[in-house]
Amino acid sequence: MHIESDTKLDFKDVLIRPKRSTLASRSEVDIRRDLSFKWSGRHYEGVPLIAANMDGVGTLAMARAFIANGNGLTVALTKHYPVEALVDFYKKEGNAAVWYSIGTSDKDTEKLDAFLAQGGKLDKLCIDVANGYAEPFVDFVRKMRAKLPDATIMAGNVVTGEMVEELILSGADVVKVGIGPGSVCTTRRMTGVGYPQLSAIIECADAAHGLKGLVCADGGCTVPGDLAKAFGAGADFVMLGGMLAGHDQCEGKIVKTKDGKFVEFYGMSSATAMGKHAGGVAEYRASEGKTVQVPYRGDVTGTLQDMLGGLRSSCTYVGAVRLKELSKRTTFIRVTQQINNVFGAV
Ligand code: 5GP
Repeated sequence: MHIESDTKLDFKDVLIRPKRSTLASRSEVDIRRDLSFKWSGRHYEGVPLIAANMDGVGTLAMARAFIANGNGLTVALTKHYPVEALVDFYKKEGNAAVWYSIGTSDKDTEKLDAFLAQGGKLDKLCIDVANGYAEPFVDFVRKMRAKLPDATIMAGNVVTGEMVEELILSGADVVKVGIGPGSVCTTRRMTGVGYPQLSAIIECADAAHGLKGLVCADGGCTVPGDLAKAFGAGADFVMLGGMLAGHDQCEGKIVKTKDGKFVEFYGMSSATAMGKHAGGVAEYRASEGKTVQVPYRGDVTGTLQDMLGGLRSSCTYVGAVRLKELSKRTTFIRVTQQINNVFGAV
């Protein structure tokens, strides 16, 4: 047994210190990034936010809304669309706004093969498992790199530098970082495993950037300020679940109650998801996700405007003309949770 005594931090433990700058208005800030991928050789240009590959978030309707938004946002599609629906979408809308998501099961690989055989053309693949530390997962990433040499591959999730390095050296262009911070995740409660997300991003970004790899901070953002903290910590992409739930684009049922309208939102390891996609929770495992009712929030366009506006404003406060400069310009100050009351008038 070993105890690490460095304090590790979460979004709620810090604020970003304002800095003097020459910026006169947030309209002068460019929050798009131009990123190059190590293995695929491809480039990405846009605001590097990704809708999580969860039911009710990584939907085709969300992808269409992101295309209409025009800022280059992308969606990691949920794994559970039928092949025909995916092929049809890729044919009609192209692949710029979407990551094809896959797990490591044989069923997932067979489905990918069927998608490719039916003329599906993906350029971005998201290999997603709850625990990216398993050796078979690393082998799977290697296999996918060999199978799709020109595709940009994002793989995860992990939270420590040495595993980020392993995945990048095994063929991942982007490593997804986050174990336990998700809004509908119960991993920390059920297993005692996890890592405070801000420190995970700082440490993993440092490891990735040394190898010309990138990181995607996945989970734990609850307000627009958290996006700025994630980018300030060094994230190249930020993935969002709960912040995008509850909209028209979520393809969920809107339930009217005396308290208002709600939409069901659930973790992909919840009993709800396993009941829907795997015929129930297998005997050997426990659910590591929960099901919640989130307030119905209408069209996602207004939410996107708030998020992008918040990010632009964060850049203005620290004098970052481009999002790329945000991490260089960021000084985090540690605060008590009471001070960092994101729902109050701080
Ligand atoms: P959020 O933005 O809602 O805080 O976090 C979204 C992320 O939570 C997802 O991208 C995924 O990594 C993670 N996640 C989604 N469903 C589950 C689940 O059922 N259990 C766990 N442990 N994590 C989940």
